[in-house]
Amino acid sequence: MGKALIIGCGGVASVTAHKCCQNSDVFEEICIASRTKSKCDALKQKLDGKKTKVQTAQLDADDVDSVVSLIESFNPDVVINLALPYQDLSIMEACLKTGKNYVDTANYEPPDTAKFEYKWQWAYKERYEKAGITALLGSGFDPGVTGVFSAYAMKHHFDEIHYIDILDANAGDHGYPFATNFNPEINIREVTAKGSWWEDGKWIETEPMEIKKVYNFPQIGERDMYLLHHEELESLALNIKGIKRIRFFMTFGQSYLTHLKCLENVGMTSIEPIMFEGRPIVPLQFLKAVLPDPATLGPRTVGKTNIGCIFRGVKDGKEKTYYLYNVCDHQECYREVGSQAISYTTGVPAMIGAMMLMTGKWNKAGVYNIEEFDPDPFMKELPKWGLPWNESFNPDLVD
Ligand code: NDP
Repeated sequence: MGKALIIGCGGVASVTAHKCCQNSDVFEEICIASRTKSKCDALKQKLDGKKTKVQTAQLDADDVDSVVSLIESFNPDVVINLALPYQDLSIMEACLKTGKNYVDTANYEPPDTAKFEYKWQWAYKERYEKAGITALLGSGFDPGVTGVFSAYAMKHHFDEIHYIDILDANAGDHGYPFATNFNPEINIREVTAKGSWWEDGKWIETEPMEIKKVYNFPQIGERDMYLLHHEELESLALNIKGIKRIRFFMTFGQSYLTHLKCLENVGMTSIEPIMFEGRPIVPLQFLKAVLPDPATLGPRTVGKTNIGCIFRGVKDGKEKTYYLYNVCDHQECYREVGSQAISYTTGVPAMIGAMMLMTGKWNKAGVYNIEEFDPDPFMKELPKWGLPWNESFNPDLVD
């Protein structure tokens, strides 16, 4: 049917490339382009022999002109941005210049301020509408499937949703005292930032990890989880009818938290450059260089993830509770595509989002968050590509 350009070649991109190749009726050809071309070539070797044709390219995606040239020469139907949030705007700009659809999994964050917000990407809305192209923002798991779950709950189960709690549990054990399961720099920026939730039209801010709850997750058991700020809160607060409160919780083990506190205390998580042996370095970037690469955690990670949303609201005048979640097993993901479950649960929805645009199932020009599209075709594809969903009408609630 068509072609996709995948930008970035880390943990998530590797899963998306595998999934595109499993879905060769839609993805006849892909090009994997990233800063380090040798990684793209190594991934291509793993994909050789599949029906989907695979090419690779070297690309600095911070440079709009380079992205434009690659898009012009490969001529994809969709560009899937799986580099880092810092590249979102340059890639969106290049898609606008070349008239191509855009998909990503994380919202833009300026490199020098640890603050992610949609305003920079939403500012492209009119220009995308005029160009007749689509930007699908946040097509990973969270954001991503959590938005699709919300749209699905709204469409089929509620007249109004009043409360959403998004719960992200990773009960995987990689055996290291400290490692992050996606890009360490982005992960640490996220968890060391202040927490916040949205209630009655306002943001309520907390100190980092200030609010802890315990939740008994299906198929995982009891885990400590902490309230974080998370990007889908911003769009869901606008897009879900009647919403009064949205919170996001993520589980962390004690070893992770103790190491993180220590690293923070000594200044290793700072993004302010310091002088080291005559040249400036950013402590967090140096830390990233010494931590395990998340893409290498696959073979050693055992256990499961459980990510989902608990909705409370009203249907036909009656109060109703509904929980939608996915459970994913790290080792099963590794056996299938050579990656752990965090990359898998992000890489699969990125492929499905691109598929929605390529098949025309989602077809409206402009810049949209994922919950603004019809959730049904996406929900139908999730189990087919390895992410089955479960529902419960009587879940434990978060107090
Ligand atoms: P990795 O660090 O493993 O991979 C990032 C890739 O992007 C690397 O291949 C890197 O190249 C490449 N890259 C970085 N800068 C550039 C550039 N200027 N030009 C071209 N390529 C570049 O990250 P992950 O795969 O773990 O994460 C990818 C994205 O997915 C991130 O944005 C992350 O925030 C998001 N994510 C979203 C989730 C969700 O559920 N929505 C969950 C997890 C992640 P090099 O190899 O040279 O370093």
